[in-house]
Amino acid sequence: MTTPTIELKPSSNLVPAAERERILANPGFGRHFTDHMVTISWTEGRGWHDAQLVPYAPLSIDPANMTLHYAQTIFEGLKAYRQADGSVATFRPEANARRFQRSARRMAMPELPEELFVAACDALVRQDVDWVPASGEESLYLRPFMFATEVGVGVHPANEFLFIVIASPAGAYFSGGVKPVSVWISDDYVRAAPGGTGEAKAGGNYASSLLAQAEATAHGCDQVVWLDGVERRWIEEMGTNNLFFVYGDRVATPAFSGSLLAGIVRDSLLTIAADLGYEVAEERISVEDWRRASADGSLTEVFGCGTAAVITPVGQVKSKAGDWTVPAPGEVTMRLRRTLLDIQTGAAEDAHGWLHRV
Ligand code: PMP
Repeated sequence: MTTPTIELKPSSNLVPAAERERILANPGFGRHFTDHMVTISWTEGRGWHDAQLVPYAPLSIDPANMTLHYAQTIFEGLKAYRQADGSVATFRPEANARRFQRSARRMAMPELPEELFVAACDALVRQDVDWVPASGEESLYLRPFMFATEVGVGVHPANEFLFIVIASPAGAYFSGGVKPVSVWISDDYVRAAPGGTGEAKAGGNYASSLLAQAEATAHGCDQVVWLDGVERRWIEEMGTNNLFFVYGDRVATPAFSGSLLAGIVRDSLLTIAADLGYEVAEERISVEDWRRASADGSLTEVFGCGTAAVITPVGQVKSKAGDWTVPAPGEVTMRLRRTLLDIQTGAAEDAHGWLHRV
């Protein structure tokens, strides 16, 4: 089976420039979409075919579409940043492509070749380049996803899938300055369990997280913190972010457990922190460790990290076992955040070759 090239069928009915500029002045997150999308089909026996860039438009879905019933669907999230010289680059798209392949394997879906994933993102960003915000912490958020298109009820891996990339301009997450969040440690609900799908970016993981997030909100907290699914003792993640714990000049993050998502920002920060001279560690961290180290002052900062918000300091913790605070935002948190954003926007040297020029 050969890798298809992406056929360009651009729209003749673009969002007017004045309307686009109005949206870009206050894009928010995930509310507005650009003029185009890339779609690639997969059919059993035929492989990937009909790769095309087409006008962004609604899809027509059969009521017996298997995804609607059995959730065979995965997604990714990555950003394109306007560089200091006016060009545009995406951040580590190959890493997203590889994670998308791992998600596909876990969900019994076909693996999109890495180069086709990256080419689809490139084609969309190039076509809709006027939608990439001009500066700073704003970006064009890319949402590649794939879902079953076979029609029929009956549980089995589908024989047809559709891969799509759409794009949405994203404003600075903390437009009024970086603000620490409060977290609720969930022990009634878990996000993932050993042998489950927590390492995959599968739609169902997010559906099952919503009730715990609602519980966090009911406790007056911004975000939910997930524990391991067995002992409900070990820290895994925060909402759709990985977590970091700072002990002076030592920076630690929960080790892979089989159920937490391998964040690309997590991976990047482990490298950046080491570059900046911090001692870095991937290790098990319990709720009790978190509470004790906050009380004795050895834990100096905590933050979440992910593509959407980059780095989010954690200030206040609530749990059934009690409430406590961590000073935030701390110096290490802000230094890592600045360093990562400077690399992403071309303001600092891209020593690890993470930027992909579009
Ligand atoms: N954990 C979960 C559950 C997520 O959905 C995300 C967002 N992709 C992350 C962590 C952070 O991953 P990344 O750094 O690749 O955005």
